[in-house]
Amino acid sequence: MVLTSQELLQRHEASLVNFEPLPLLSELEPAQMPRMLIITCADPRCIPENIFNLHTGEAVVYRVPGGNAQFLLEHVLSLDSLLHFTECIIVQHTDCGATHFRDDKVKEGLRERAPDLEQQIEGLKFGEITGSLDENVKKSIDFLRASALVPEELKANTRGFVFDLKTGNLKEVDV
Ligand SMILES: [Zn+2]
Repeated sequence: MVLTSQELLQRHEASLVNFEPLPLLSELEPAQMPRMLIITCADPRCIPENIFNLHTGEAVVYRVPGGNAQFLLEHVLSLDSLLHFTECIIVQHTDCGATHFRDDKVKEGLRERAPDLEQQIEGLKFGEITGSLDENVKKSIDFLRASALVPEELKANTRGFVFDLKTGNLKEVDV
C-alpha cells in the first residue's frame, strides 16, 4: 500500500504517547552537543538511524540523492558554525538510485516541461554516479578536503563507506 500523509499523521499521533521534551541547544552542556556529521543518501533503504542505531540528538544527518557531499557544503558550514563538528561519516550504498538515473536524461525531461529555461536546466547537476561507488565516496571526501572553508579537524576525521543493502555490511573506502 502506498504511504499517505494521512497515515503518517496517524503514526505521529500514536507516537506522542512516548514523546519526551527535547533539550534546546542552550540547555546542552558542551559534551552533549552533537559533533558527528553523517552524510548519506535520501534512499529510503539507507537509513543512518538504523545502520548506526542512532539516538535522538547524537548526530546531524544530511541526506541527498547519491549521498554526495558536493551538494551540501553550505549546510555543513552553517551548522558547523554552531556545533563544531569533529567527525564526518559519508555513507553511500549499493543499488543507489543515482547509479540508475543520468543527469542528461533528467535534463531531457525538464527541457520538455520547460523549454524556455534551457540555460538554467543546462547548469543543473543531479549527482549521477557513473563510476564505482568507492570512487564516488572518494569524490565526496576529496571535495570536502579540497575546500579551504571546511575545518582541518573535520577533514582529517572524515571517513567514507559503502553500505551493502543485501548484507547490511559497511565497507570502508580507502582514501
Ligand atoms: Zn542512494
